[in-house]
Amino acid sequence: MTVRVPSAVEEVRDGRLERVGVRLSLKRDDLVHPDLPGNKWRKLKYNLRAASEQGHRTLLTFGGAYSNHLRATAAAGRIFGFGTVGIVRGEERLPLNESLAYAVAQGMRLDYMDRGTYRRKTEPDVIASLRERWGDFYLVPEGGSNALAVRGCAELGAEVDPSFDVVCCAVGTGGTLAGLAAGLAPHQRALGFAVLKGGAFLNEDVERLQREAYGERRGNWSIDTDFHFGGYARRDGELDAFVADFQRRHGLLLDWVYVAKMLAGVHSLAERGAFPEGTRVLAVVTG
Ligand SMILES: *Cc1c(COP(=O)(O)O)cnc(C)c1O
Repeated sequence: MTVRVPSAVEEVRDGRLERVGVRLSLKRDDLVHPDLPGNKWRKLKYNLRAASEQGHRTLLTFGGAYSNHLRATAAAGRIFGFGTVGIVRGEERLPLNESLAYAVAQGMRLDYMDRGTYRRKTEPDVIASLRERWGDFYLVPEGGSNALAVRGCAELGAEVDPSFDVVCCAVGTGGTLAGLAAGLAPHQRALGFAVLKGGAFLNEDVERLQREAYGERRGNWSIDTDFHFGGYARRDGELDAFVADFQRRHGLLLDWVYVAKMLAGVHSLAERGAFPEGTRVLAVVTG
């Protein structure tokens, strides 16, 4: 399997940013691997290694019906020779949507969990009943975020050229930001953009993930919670207009669940003067 890391960096030319003295580049983690794009590969990498060292043959993980993480885990299972089980939040809906159909085509077996139980999915009794049903498995948490994922994402931070001042990424479960921030040089800071509403709790999640990985908080990071555009997997006219405008200017169609929200936030903050003149911003295209 060929993984293209370090991922490519491309400068984006935009008069509105130039006017405020901000230089923006994109780190194209979306091009790392066709089936395991960006942060999903980085988060799975050491988990796959641990699963095989511990002798597991099956990966079990959790996600919503549109989860990129379920897709990536299914693809990783096929590529690395693990069986995969995807526990999907909510009721089964047929026909399967494109994401779940893809996961099944990669060999993933799907099971559905009512929302109440899903909320308790990290509790021992829920996991015990999954073991009863599915036998032995290596458990990958929702979104793939755990200490090993943080270590994988720290490699993303370590790839960043020292000339960048601020490195931005979207935040879903926080594993990517936790690792990115830990991998940056001391003079750099990471800025995450929460893609869900009421994302302040993510500060604790990111800090907990760093403590699990390193025993301490690491790096200089913060989370902006103002650019969720209505909540997780929600969009509005303003976000759609941003996506269309970005595609027209730069020829890149942005993923709107994560990447577009982060980049809309970067543009908005820049135009408001939130970055000092001369700031070099790197935005991670995670998918
Ligand atoms: C999963 C995903 C994220 C969120 O990453 P977290 O580590 O869960 O915060 C961001 N961008 C894309 C494209 C994703 O698929």
